[in-house]
Amino acid sequence: MTTETGPGAHAGPDAAKPLDFIRTIVTDDLKAGRNGGRVHTRFPPEPNGYLHIGHAKAICLSFGVALEFGGKCNLRFDDTNPEKEDVEYVDAIREDVHWLGFDWEGREFYASDYFEQLYLWAEELIQKGLAYVDNLTPDEVREHRGTLTEPGRESPHRNRPVAESLDLFRRMRAGEFEDGGYTLRAKIDMASPNINMRDPALYRIRRAAHHRTGDAWCIYPMYDFAHALSDAIEGITHSLCTLEFEDHRPLYDWCVANCTVPSVPRQIEFARLNLTYTVMSKRRLLTLVQEGVVDGWDDPRMPTISGLRRRGYTPEAIREFAARIGVAKRENLVDVALLEDAVRDDLNRRAPRAMAVLRPLKVVIENYPEGEVETISLPLNPDRPEDGSRAVPFSRELYVERDDFMEEPPKKFFRLAPGREVRLRGTYFVTCVRAVKDDAGDVVELRCTYDPATRDGNAPDGRKPKATIHWVSAAHAMDAEARLYDRLFTSMTPGDEAGDGNWRTSLNPASLEVLACRVEPALAAARPGDRFQFERLGYFCVDRGSAPGRPVFNRTVTLKDTWARVAQRAGG
Ligand code: ATP
Ligand code: MG
Repeated sequence: MTTETGPGAHAGPDAAKPLDFIRTIVTDDLKAGRNGGRVHTRFPPEPNGYLHIGHAKAICLSFGVALEFGGKCNLRFDDTNPEKEDVEYVDAIREDVHWLGFDWEGREFYASDYFEQLYLWAEELIQKGLAYVDNLTPDEVREHRGTLTEPGRESPHRNRPVAESLDLFRRMRAGEFEDGGYTLRAKIDMASPNINMRDPALYRIRRAAHHRTGDAWCIYPMYDFAHALSDAIEGITHSLCTLEFEDHRPLYDWCVANCTVPSVPRQIEFARLNLTYTVMSKRRLLTLVQEGVVDGWDDPRMPTISGLRRRGYTPEAIREFAARIGVAKRENLVDVALLEDAVRDDLNRRAPRAMAVLRPLKVVIENYPEGEVETISLPLNPDRPEDGSRAVPFSRELYVERDDFMEEPPKKFFRLAPGREVRLRGTYFVTCVRAVKDDAGDVVELRCTYDPATRDGNAPDGRKPKATIHWVSAAHAMDAEARLYDRLFTSMTPGDEAGDGNWRTSLNPASLEVLACRVEPALAAARPGDRFQFERLGYFCVDRGSAPGRPVFNRTVTLKDTWARVAQRAGG
């Protein structure tokens, strides 16, 4: 059983590694005495879906920087979009951030907590002549916006008197107008080369119940306005976000500069995480859930934090992955094998060993006394003798893995075959005498003999079989279910398929294989969430949906990256 540990107290960034560009900026700011020596970051999810591994990167960065520099990190829900948001998502996000090992120390905030203040700042902008109420239709706004090469055109309502805009804005709030009838727009520059600065909308009318404010509001602030000012309210010093917000930074700074805010935050952008064979947009993940392609947001094939948790990932592995990929300013595509390596490395150190037979083939040891049962003692973790050992029953009838036997073995196959001797993990040598077949010609049982002198896994004459295979005692093994997962998409870049909906065309029809398997009896004590290394097979985690007495084991990852090896071979 693996127990989770937190990221630990930090006395500064990892001295063994060169500072990334964000930690360099923070270090310089501290040296220059900016922000009164404070470091304050935030993680700002929109509660419109579950967090994914990309968010984990952002969490490790914002919470990590705060921890390393003795600062603080807030959890802020960016809930300005009432139609798509839900408390289910709020709860899941809180759980996932905590599970990753980070704590916001009670600083759990909501953009919706600031709606009144944001409204007052909007009035301030109107009064300063920096915002106006427009009644162009959405289509007209689009026509006026211009393009990357052509400047936009000013709305005929742009120079509406301040008093008139103020009156209209108050009536917008009071609910006098239909959805979309009016918008509040910043008055910046319709000829700006940055389209975000061409009089962006600050408020729109939306009659939708909000998961926190209910029906109190029928106007909602736009993301750019709400986000910048929420940062300012909370005294955020370094507002870390992904690159797609780079072009929004001038607007971010404009909002902060033109409202009477208590502090001046700085936005810094970094490259989002993109993973091979993985779809990461929340909208697409939601589609997979809604269409039943997967078993909910925490399906072990999902790249969500809850999916990875159910799959058997540890928070340590995810944090280590985030550390290994680092932060950079340029977009790139990370091989999902790197994520798998991180969990393999972590579980290799910590997961207790056990034996399970996924595709059982019966073995009868003809010269072993009927009715006798021995107890074989095997280490829980051969690399950590201090972890102790486990008792595994041995008897005349065993199960071994079907693909550990071949009737006509090719050259490099050293496992069981007629006349071939192998070692059973931790104990006796057995020799296959013959294979018993059914009417269809399929092998249904192996008849073997054993060498009683090899109980401790060694022969007195020093002979060594070329293969060791795992086994369970047929009478003692427990029935269980194994779920083997493969990539959800066969395309390396499923998010890039052209055309709407085409990202779904590369869904892998074989991403889940369910097997009835046999596991060693000590696993009867396993609890949901427990992780094991099944010898020679991979790492497995007990599913939360296991029925008592019949555990379900999710395969977290294979022992080696067999897929990469197969792909390599296929590619020559
Ligand atoms: P999606 O695009 O999947 O819907 P989002 O960016 O809209 O996600 P938010 O809830 O707004 O989701 O994200 C919260 C924070 O996480 C933001 O600061 C965002 O920059 C960051 N983030 C989102 N996706 C990634 C990613 N793939 N890599 C790194 N950070 C990310
Ligand atoms: Mg977003």
